[in-house]
Amino acid sequence: MTNPLTTQLSRRQFLRGGILAAAGAGVLGSGPLVWAYHSDFVPAVIIGSGFGGAVAALRLGQAGIDTVVLERGRRWPIRRDGDTFATFEKPDGRAYWLRDRTGEAILGLPQLEKPIDRYVGVLEVIQGNGIFIGAGAGVGGGSLVFNAIIVKPRRELFERVFPRAIDFDEMEDVYYPRVKRILRSAPIPDDILATEYYRSSRVSLDQARTAGFPTRPVDLAVDWDIVRDEIAGRRTPSAIAGQSFYGLNSGAKRSLDHNYLARAEATGNVEILPLHSVAAIERGPNGLYVVTAFHISDDGQVVGRTRRLVCKYLFLAAGSIGTTSLLVRAKATGALPALNDHVGQRWAANGDIPVTRGALPPTNAGTGGPAGHFIMEDLDNPFGPTSLVELVLPPHINAALSAVGAPPHLANYASLGIPPAIGSFSYDHTTDAVDLNWPAADPRLANFLAAAQQTLSVLDQRNGSLTLSFNPAVSAHPLGGAVLGKACDFAGRVERYPGLYVVDGALIEGSTGLANPFFTITALAERCMDHILWRDRLSNGV
Ligand SMILES: Cc1cc2nc3c(=O)[nH]c(=O)nc-3n(C[C@H](O)[C@H](O)[C@H](O)COP(=O)(O)OP(=O)(O)OC[C@H]3O[C@@H](n4cnc5c(N)ncnc54)[C@H](O)[C@@H]3O)c2cc1C
Repeated sequence: MTNPLTTQLSRRQFLRGGILAAAGAGVLGSGPLVWAYHSDFVPAVIIGSGFGGAVAALRLGQAGIDTVVLERGRRWPIRRDGDTFATFEKPDGRAYWLRDRTGEAILGLPQLEKPIDRYVGVLEVIQGNGIFIGAGAGVGGGSLVFNAIIVKPRRELFERVFPRAIDFDEMEDVYYPRVKRILRSAPIPDDILATEYYRSSRVSLDQARTAGFPTRPVDLAVDWDIVRDEIAGRRTPSAIAGQSFYGLNSGAKRSLDHNYLARAEATGNVEILPLHSVAAIERGPNGLYVVTAFHISDDGQVVGRTRRLVCKYLFLAAGSIGTTSLLVRAKATGALPALNDHVGQRWAANGDIPVTRGALPPTNAGTGGPAGHFIMEDLDNPFGPTSLVELVLPPHINAALSAVGAPPHLANYASLGIPPAIGSFSYDHTTDAVDLNWPAADPRLANFLAAAQQTLSVLDQRNGSLTLSFNPAVSAHPLGGAVLGKACDFAGRVERYPGLYVVDGALIEGSTGLANPFFTITALAERCMDHILWRDRLSNGV
């Protein structure tokens, strides 16, 4: 059987003949070339196909730069029979990245955990020291599991968390609109919001008004016509059935494989290689980068020989934790020894805390996803600004909580705040592991936590409701580790390593300013790619 990587690279003449021919012609200088004999050359490599990676792929492809995207997960084409993804009711390996059990224990509900087959599923649970993080895995990264909520931060909060070099006006005029156009996002239409499925959103909106918190509608990267088809019985009930983060079987999510990545591949210059997990990066002689990747099977086993790609331009887009881990390991092992001391620092989870409330008016909980049809903001909070975005309550969790006598009529939220970015990463030489460290008991977090609790307390007091669960030990918004203006310059160029770039959530210092993060991550990646393509004169030659 032919190896897909070799076949694809051969077709476009990136095989080691390319690099060795170049070496023979003296292009590479006189350094040792043993590494090159075992490697394939490609001008640009992107690690990861989430938001940052998808933007880099499209813009490199359009610029005519031959590019390979290495993605550890599989593709998830929507099947006509409505069985692409696992569901909350019938979970299987498709739900989680290489786990033996579902993840409800992390939410304090161990009785709901079920055994599943170990598979390259869509949702990864990363256990840090002091925090659990959820992240997407597969072609499209976080867009496979996201709730599709698009929030632009307010100017004053953006300017509070980003360095002045990242100009809000430019983001607002150029980059946010560019992303919105490609994702074709839109707020929930009134006819859908008025249905019984979305009762919970209407209740939350009323409660915000009663509490005196301003609200604004948010866009969702959702095809609302597909949701209408679900309501009419023409598609598998998915969004309306309260599914979200194992994927939507109706295809209503506008995930990156349907827009950015599809357009990148259509340029003819971009190859996406799924099931290729990158283990290490290094700089070879002559300033080229060497990427070591394992081709893995559906159950995560390594198949075939270890691949080594050599490239001139290496784009890190493996998500905040994936990208930072590769950099921290490379610094600690001497593969990229000149990385500065900011690498692996300034991390936080966007102040994202899952919250469940009860004793509300009837919410029809467990329906009406994917989520977050508006954001409520508590900007005058004495401890610090906060916001709440409604999330769908998974139906099996709603059923279980009701069965154990929780107050009726529940609703789920992401509470967002602005935490100090005091998380960091460390390398363990004995295990070769990189650990995420979040000092959950650090007094510097007290204000941010008090702010979130204060908002909930006002909401409950004014509405006669109850907050049932507030869990700062779980988040889905990892940000930081290779931050703009510290580990990288303001366009994502890694300091001291020409041709090495970070284009994902690792660039952002712990917060996008009271907003769900992917809109800002994607807009910032667009900005980085503009700067890189204008200034760095990328070309296909060795
Ligand atoms: C359940 C859930 C719901 C969410 N909902 C929302 C929402 O509604 N709105 C919002 O703004 N944000 C949401 N988020 C957060 C959002 O998904 C992330 O902020 C965003 O995906 C981060 O983008 P990124 O480009 O940094 O990385 P990612 O999108 O995480 O992409 C990283 C990619 O790299 C791949 N990868 C990692 N390591 C390797 C490796 N070693 N080799 C090869 N490939 C690798 C991964 O498989 C993944 O595809 C949600 C997150 C979760 C988990």
